[in-house]
Amino acid sequence: MLLAGPLTLSLLLSCSADRPAPAPTLSPALQRALAWPLPPAQGGLPLWQGEAVRVEGIEARPLLLALDSAARPSPIAMILLEPERALDVGVLVAHGHFEGGKNDPNAWEVAWGLARRGARVVLVDSPGVEEWAAEAYDVHLERGAHNRVFLAAAGTSAMALQVAALRRGLDLLQARGARELGATGASGGAVATFYLGLVDDRVGALALASPPPIPREPEAGGCPCDQLPAVPGPDPSVLAALTRPTLWMSEQAGPRPEGLGRAVERKVLEGAHAYTPPMQAQAWAFFDRELGLRRPSAEGEAPRLDLHSAGPEGTPDVASLRALALPDPGPWSPQVDADRPFPYELSCSGEGPTVLALGASAPDLDALQDAGLSPCALVIPEDPRALARAIGAGRPPADAVLGAVRAATERRQVRGLFARRGWALLAARADRPYVVADPLTQLGQLDTQLDPPWVHVPGAWTGGAQAAVAGARSHGQDLQALARELRLATVEAP
Ligand SMILES: [Zn+2]
Repeated sequence: MLLAGPLTLSLLLSCSADRPAPAPTLSPALQRALAWPLPPAQGGLPLWQGEAVRVEGIEARPLLLALDSAARPSPIAMILLEPERALDVGVLVAHGHFEGGKNDPNAWEVAWGLARRGARVVLVDSPGVEEWAAEAYDVHLERGAHNRVFLAAAGTSAMALQVAALRRGLDLLQARGARELGATGASGGAVATFYLGLVDDRVGALALASPPPIPREPEAGGCPCDQLPAVPGPDPSVLAALTRPTLWMSEQAGPRPEGLGRAVERKVLEGAHAYTPPMQAQAWAFFDRELGLRRPSAEGEAPRLDLHSAGPEGTPDVASLRALALPDPGPWSPQVDADRPFPYELSCSGEGPTVLALGASAPDLDALQDAGLSPCALVIPEDPRALARAIGAGRPPADAVLGAVRAATERRQVRGLFARRGWALLAARADRPYVVADPLTQLGQLDTQLDPPWVHVPGAWTGGAQAAVAGARSHGQDLQALARELRLATVEAP
């Protein structure tokens, strides 16, 4: 159905430059956590646009916009709704963790109702969802753990990436002629809308449907893509930073969240954790009041269009966010809390000098035993909240794991360490001789099935991982040779 359109829209106006926000009232931690370090794409010009579908006098069109101005830009999939005789009002819709992304009823229905009322509307994909559903860009749930830690190690965050993508949607609305801008979303989309409202002063009004607690508490359930580095909840000052007109619609009764300022009108509309029809109606009335809308052109259910951006080359270019030229944060300087090591277990076997085995497989342990060593395998119990806790504390998650390595090294008086792949980063900081099997030195060698998310320590991929391997007594693939070398080192060790 969709054909590649021309690369320019004749109606495009020259677009205002990206605003420099965050606002100065934000705390330095909040500013850092929400700052996206790459220069924005210029001007809200689509990389590609599909053919428009026209229903009820509203043109709906899939588009791709660039996230940044890199030579090989990362496209973000969007849908633009433009009613006949559109008002100079534009509203952005951020989707939450609902199955259909920007095409899900929890985003689509409120969007269509706004377009019926004369607003231009843009719906924006979140990285890792729907058309952006590439592992390489995913920041959500367990699947996005690597990318969340990678972004935190580069001094930014998964939320900063999501907000940067939403800001490109505002660029598009402005380029199409919208002067007054609003933003809305449900659940995770409400959180992203909230943070967009903190950093982009083009947004004049916000409607948040079923928002979870903001800022995220590391122990909270759901998707940790909104955990901000060094900003653990609860923190009323984060809510207090929102000073523009906002409609806050809670799906559960309860006290008004502490910190919400006078600009925030809070309503309890009990029901599902969703963008429910009563919430949609409230949002339409709110935007009418704040931005000025007109009588709806039609009533009743929104049509289901399910628009996607096939794009001229098929699908968005999802190279990988790990290929983005993010700034080098400098080398890792771990801060280990020696009194409170990360929970760990040791499983020891064999006879001889004790060595700590990190990331070791059964053949690794066999080879160590055969060389006359007693390997103790370090096991870190699964804890899905551990990464969110570390990010919320503003520390690389590897700090806590290094704490366990050092504690085990002391406790068992180990004479040396065996490290597989990225575990070399920790072995290098245990103050004992070590060997490395199957070294991981380049980001391109990363295997997200094999390698833990904490390997993204600051500077790992700009020399840190390489230095950790270079400091080993020996490295390579020959397990027997590595085990022999480690055995020799334990004899020599004082
Ligand atoms: Zn998420």
